[in-house]
Amino acid sequence: MSHTQTMKFEAETRQLLDLMVHSLYSNKEVFLRELISNASDALDRLRLEAATDQALAAEQSDPEIRLEPNAESRTLTIRDNGIGMSREELISNIGTIARSGTQELIDRMRQAKPEEMSAELIGQFGVGFYSCFMIADRVELLTRRAGEEKASRWEYAGESGEYTISDGGRAPVGTSITLHLKDADADDGIEDYTDATVLRRIVKKYSDFVRYPVKLPVRREEQVDGLPVISLEDEVLNSMKAIWLRPADEVEDDEYNEFYRHISHGWDEPIERISMKAEGRFEYQALLFIPSQAPIDLYSQAYRRGLQLYVRNVKIMEHCEGLLPDYLRFVKGVVDAQDLPLNVSREMLQENRQVTQIRKALTKKIIDTLLAAKEAGEHYDEIWRSYGALIKEGIASHQESRDKLVPLLLFESTADPEAKVDLATYVERMPEGQEEIYYISGERRAAVESSPHLEAFSRRGFEVLFMLDSVDEFMLHHLQDFEGKTLRSVAQGEVDLGEEKEKEQKEERQKEFAPFLEALTEALKDHVKEVRLTTRLTTSPACLVGAEGELSPHIARLMRQNRMDIPEIKRDMELNPTHDVVVRLKQHFDDGDRGETLTDSAELLLGQALLAENAPLPDPARFAKLLTRLLAKVL
Ligand code: ADP
Repeated sequence: MSHTQTMKFEAETRQLLDLMVHSLYSNKEVFLRELISNASDALDRLRLEAATDQALAAEQSDPEIRLEPNAESRTLTIRDNGIGMSREELISNIGTIARSGTQELIDRMRQAKPEEMSAELIGQFGVGFYSCFMIADRVELLTRRAGEEKASRWEYAGESGEYTISDGGRAPVGTSITLHLKDADADDGIEDYTDATVLRRIVKKYSDFVRYPVKLPVRREEQVDGLPVISLEDEVLNSMKAIWLRPADEVEDDEYNEFYRHISHGWDEPIERISMKAEGRFEYQALLFIPSQAPIDLYSQAYRRGLQLYVRNVKIMEHCEGLLPDYLRFVKGVVDAQDLPLNVSREMLQENRQVTQIRKALTKKIIDTLLAAKEAGEHYDEIWRSYGALIKEGIASHQESRDKLVPLLLFESTADPEAKVDLATYVERMPEGQEEIYYISGERRAAVESSPHLEAFSRRGFEVLFMLDSVDEFMLHHLQDFEGKTLRSVAQGEVDLGEEKEKEQKEERQKEFAPFLEALTEALKDHVKEVRLTTRLTTSPACLVGAEGELSPHIARLMRQNRMDIPEIKRDMELNPTHDVVVRLKQHFDDGDRGETLTDSAELLLGQALLAENAPLPDPARFAKLLTRLLAKVL
């Protein structure tokens, strides 16, 4: 039975292929790096799977990656004897791009000008395999999964949007990819990839450290008994040296960067590189990288976290999660440990003391690197933009790191719209009379900046931090003070900014206002817990205040949108007793007007307090009606 299936690419994949086919990206030779990288991964996987599966062990032969150029047919074949793919795997791996955020990136690439079609933009997809469509107009792939009898053949002739899959009959284990090359074209950045000199250079440049030999058959001409004899022999193009075992001063930055791209499947450059060598009781080397951009799927379940784990220079795990706390999942790299057993399982790793030690040491080193970057101030803004939310997650989730992470925090604040502030600087510039660290949380800067809650603080020249990340709320549960100063929300609890005279005045007024406040509380009882007076307002008549430690309303809304069952939280309404509106309303009340004017006004005050903090109204239509009625009266 030989059935040929013609399949359509998913719309997203197709768009991406179109972009590759017509790519103006100039560095097209990286296609080879991508294919060699995939081949090397496939060899790793066969080795790892064969370690626990006898049937697969029989499929192993000397691992290698072969480049087979053919100048006459203008093809280049890349062959590996790795794990291979089943028919189903072919369809799901090569026919789809299962990444969240793909469509968004495609749209961005479409809108980008050609010169902006940069490696970074392309690289965020992990376009890997598809990059060969920059230099080939037809691609054939023959692959047999280790342990399976039959091979599968995949073919795509560019631009049709359809590919075919058919039975590939008997074939050696692994994958061979044959590229039907576009003509060399210097203007287009396409070279002759059947030329041994070109291939040598590209492999040396991008794939030197690959741990399997990349072989190229070359013609040798010898004189035997005075006659020329031509033979083909394999030349190994890469040194295969583990980059982390080489002395750091002998490795060029470019080599490190290529290695980073190899392990991260990225196209960008790392923003930080960390080399570690531990000697003594547990010996290990680590080479870690912080990517310059957060991967698009960093927050999705599908994100592949974990460092590569080697034991005595042999890779034993591709994604070892135990080597870093979860919040540091953006870090990429390799750990090579000397004293772990080669057959260590995932379960064993969780318990292993050495792994725990390594995790501690790596965590410390990464945080120190981040602190140093912050001190140096050069690219910390970028790091913060990409990973700030994860650092906050670390404070919430990883008690061991908490104290060391706090100095890394940056916040926007009322002080300066351009610059962010850390807590130490905040405390340093606290004016006389300020005892606590104040913050306000909300969805966006614009939403909190004009909030009535800030009024009393601005008047006294107290800086207020903006907590605009949804993770802030959870972080704040674990960050209650800094240098002995309490972190306090300006929108929660009663404000007591310490002026005795004001406090006395307020208490007196509270008595005088009591019946009025009770009537308002009754009128608004479905929406607020209590109506009371405050000194926190200067220009607004009213605002809403939560209880201390309570979930803030915008976070509660966010959680409800995520289908979490969060009960409605009632807050208190605070009134500014010096505001004209409040003064006059009380006058009406004292004059005996306790009907509609009072209840309508109470509702209007509530509505405007909600609007002032950018919160939705419980009944917008009713608010509109009340407002119209009011306008009709005064106009
Ligand atoms: P990435 O390598 O970033 O996952 P690719 O598009 O390069 O993206 O490859 C998609 C998937 O196809 C790989 O994750 C792998 O499962 C499979 N694949 C690609 N090349 C090979 C190969 N030579 N041997 C086995 N599987 C491969």
